[in-house]
Amino acid sequence: MIKLAEHKEYTQDQSIQSLPAPSRVYLPLSQHLGKHCLPEVKAGDTVNLGQRIAGIQAHVWAPVHASVSGKVAGIQDWAHPVLSRCKAIVIENDGEDRVVAGLKQRSKEEVRSLSPEQVRAIALEAGIVGMGGATFPAHVKLNPPKPIDTLIINGAECEPYLTSDSRLMVEYHYQLLLGIEAVAACLGVKNVYVGIEENKPDAIKAMRAQLRDNGWHLRVLSSRYPQGGEKQLIKNVLSREVPRGKLPFDVGVVVHNVATVFALYEALYFSKPLYERLVTVTGSLFEHPKNLRVRLGTPIKELIAYCGPLREEPAKIIMGGPMMGIAQYSDDVPVIKSSGGVLLLSGDEARQLSEEPCIRCGACVRECPVGLMPTSIDLCGRAELWQQAKEYGALDCIECGVCSYVCPAGRNLVQSIKRAKLEAVK
Ligand code: SF4
Ligand code: SF4
Repeated sequence: MIKLAEHKEYTQDQSIQSLPAPSRVYLPLSQHLGKHCLPEVKAGDTVNLGQRIAGIQAHVWAPVHASVSGKVAGIQDWAHPVLSRCKAIVIENDGEDRVVAGLKQRSKEEVRSLSPEQVRAIALEAGIVGMGGATFPAHVKLNPPKPIDTLIINGAECEPYLTSDSRLMVEYHYQLLLGIEAVAACLGVKNVYVGIEENKPDAIKAMRAQLRDNGWHLRVLSSRYPQGGEKQLIKNVLSREVPRGKLPFDVGVVVHNVATVFALYEALYFSKPLYERLVTVTGSLFEHPKNLRVRLGTPIKELIAYCGPLREEPAKIIMGGPMMGIAQYSDDVPVIKSSGGVLLLSGDEARQLSEEPCIRCGACVRECPVGLMPTSIDLCGRAELWQQAKEYGALDCIECGVCSYVCPAGRNLVQSIKRAKLEAVK
């Protein structure tokens, strides 16, 4: 693991604020790992906030919900933060926030009496996916195919600049506790760990107080990158090694990110579908960097304007953090379920290397924390050889960005590997 400059100071003390809903949202049909959804509405339809508007029958999938109430303006190709472009359902916001009927509130006792099947059905219905960036549908992860004995809650947030997970733990620790309790009960485990990097003293303090009474454990981890990768976390919290090609459940563990657990809490207690998320809007160019609660489908230019004015024009717009994030060609790109941050870099801050051919230096292979050959997967990805990319272990990639960071040829390795992963599981 490597030590990086953290740059958390811009937003680590910024309380969560809500960004006003935009006049139009652009909700892509692909916001998760797995099959793209199909639209269930058409142009001219009136929709309510939280209404399911797209879905598909598959093992690995999650539905899409309306993040505003209003009229469907159309279904069109639109900028996508990962796929470059993707079909999106465009909704004209009527400003009424008319919530879809039938969203049931549940008491603590009612949630505690839900069966694992019911919890999984609620997670699926709410469209919850891994919000740390992996976007793996939560209902699948709540149903591991092998017996597990330990749940790890990932509060590491090792990506530089990003602080929304940290703020979630500081401001919503009680709700997180209820979410963790429900996830642990669904998985049938008593052994629960929460892993947080040592650079988040406020989150550590808040979570420690909540965990103490439950007999759960807090692990304070060193601030090194990629501490929050599932396999690294399992190794550093439990001293268990997940072999190459295997998944956490192969060593008896399930890992959920704190933001995912919070979304599950909201789904279980309020039947709230995943139509908004926390986003850190950050970087030295902002006069007012913030942690925002944002409706999915909001173009990032709205977030940028809300946190402005800008000190100068950005040289680079990144969706996510500097390591795992993806540089964007347009500020029309919408916030989706995996969007944890919007980072603007100045010319001095951005690495302005143009992409050069691979010089076969081997740096990416040496530094990859899961022992992959990023250069080979990248080449397969660029040639759209998805099956071959899979054979090279693309699905084991934790998207940490270390390979891109160390590449002297400036190759956007992680970006191309991310695409290969998405395509390989279609
Ligand atoms: S291939 Fe690159 S992004 Fe993937 S795990 Fe290895 S270093 Fe990280
Ligand atoms: S680090 Fe870059 S140049 Fe070196 S082998 Fe990997 S892709 Fe090629």
